[in-house]
Amino acid sequence: MSYRIDSVDAQIIELLQQDGRMMYKDIADRVGVSLPTVRARLRNLIKLGLIKKFTVVVDSEKIMGRVKAFVLADVDVENTDQFKENLEKVEEIRAASFVAGSKSVMLEVDIEDMEHLNTLMFKLSKGFGLSGFSVYVSTKVLKEEYGSRVKPDTPLQFRCRFCDCVIYGKPLIRHYYGGKYYFSGEECASAFKERLDQRYGAKESHGRVLKAAEAKKENASDVPK
Ligand SMILES: [Zn+2]
Repeated sequence: MSYRIDSVDAQIIELLQQDGRMMYKDIADRVGVSLPTVRARLRNLIKLGLIKKFTVVVDSEKIMGRVKAFVLADVDVENTDQFKENLEKVEEIRAASFVAGSKSVMLEVDIEDMEHLNTLMFKLSKGFGLSGFSVYVSTKVLKEEYGSRVKPDTPLQFRCRFCDCVIYGKPLIRHYYGGKYYFSGEECASAFKERLDQRYGAKESHGRVLKAAEAKKENASDVPK
């Protein structure tokens, strides 16, 4: 039986999608539940990772000269995790998805101006595992909404970070080295942890730093009161 969200969860999410600063008390009134219920539901939705974060949306059209572009490129990478890390480092790339059908990636770029865009494209063509770029520069944003809409009785799906199988029911959630991961079971979790230990083993002596980073990340995911 897969994990499903109910209509209370769906309503809370919808209200916060409209206004991320809405007071918990107002949410409780609108949904018709108690304040502790709203808190508990949100804590759970965050823990499940369905709510990824609370953020602020900046209007790029208010920034002088700013260029928004969509870039379709062919990918030739062996290590997807490494590719993801490389993408993380380029802050002008605001979103990236592999797209079906071919080995392609779609990037969403938000950058100072055309000159910077050209420089970025040059950078991405060197050692990034990308080639065959098609660049579409946005001339006007017509609609912009964020994240998925969620209806009541929507089943959730989690994939095991280690074996990539679909997890039915509640996933096992583990925090390692400041990251949050979902697993199908203890075996996959410990196998994955072993892999991370090998990778970050050299940094083991900085355990305290890593722990601090982990604590910071935990706090960061707390919802504003
Ligand atoms: Zn697994």
